[in-house]
Amino acid sequence: MSARVAFLGPPGAGKGTQARDLAQEWGVLHLATGDMLREAVAAGNPLGREAKGYMDKGALVPDDVIIRMMGERLAARDAAGGVILDGFPRTIAQADSLAKLLKDLGQTLDTVIYFEVSEPELLRRLTGRRVCRKCGHTYHLVSNPPKRAGICDECGGELYQRDDDSEATVRNRLQVYERQTAPLLDYYRQRSSLKSVSGEGPLGTIRDAIRKAVGDGP
Ligand code: ADP
Ligand code: ADP
Ligand code: ZN
Repeated sequence: MSARVAFLGPPGAGKGTQARDLAQEWGVLHLATGDMLREAVAAGNPLGREAKGYMDKGALVPDDVIIRMMGERLAARDAAGGVILDGFPRTIAQADSLAKLLKDLGQTLDTVIYFEVSEPELLRRLTGRRVCRKCGHTYHLVSNPPKRAGICDECGGELYQRDDDSEATVRNRLQVYERQTAPLLDYYRQRSSLKSVSGEGPLGTIRDAIRKAVGDGP
């Protein structure tokens, strides 16, 4: 039984898609650092102004910025009942800080789920991804299209393509993942908290595999 789960995997692996549904099912918070940063950019606040340049290039936002942001978020009362961390940690430094943060809060990271997806599939997914401007729901032009082109099924909002989902930036993000985030696989393997699932195939099959890996929910 896990109350704190992290989703680890390359950009486009399907972390956000699965986290959204499972957080609701388990009644825990879905904390996606990418979503939090995009909100800050849209709001034009100091965090957003600092993060924007890195995000546009497909580089990681500096660790100290992310660690401060997540430190505040995880300490909030509504995070005490459990979280799915989506896209965090992404570096060894972030993973070390997360362990320290949780320890101070008297909590532990129970399971890390690694989404395994081939590189050609990641490229296909990222370049075809469309996101709702209003509610953040994610679609794919081919594999997961909305009922009406350009319109969100959930809320009627307008769908858009993220600036960093262009092919050139996607290639850079995949390299950044290999260099800076993939080392977390060994990190969590050594700490026995890593469970791998295939991130390819029908959404429901992947969801079942995740449920099983965390012991049927938190
Ligand atoms: P994806 O869904 O494609 O994996 P995200 O939405 O998670 O992408 O992240 C978008 C961008 O936000 C990243 O390319 C990076 O610039 C920034 N970002 C998100 N999470 C982190 C993090 N944990 N550490 C550093 N930068 C991050
Ligand atoms: P991440 O959060 O890991 O970057 P997303 O959840 O945003 O990934 O998914 C990336 C893209 O792939 C989206 O367009 C989404 O609709 C699509 N997608 C997600 N899961 C699958 C799947 N199992 N099969 C095909 N496409 C998928
Ligand atoms: Zn929507």
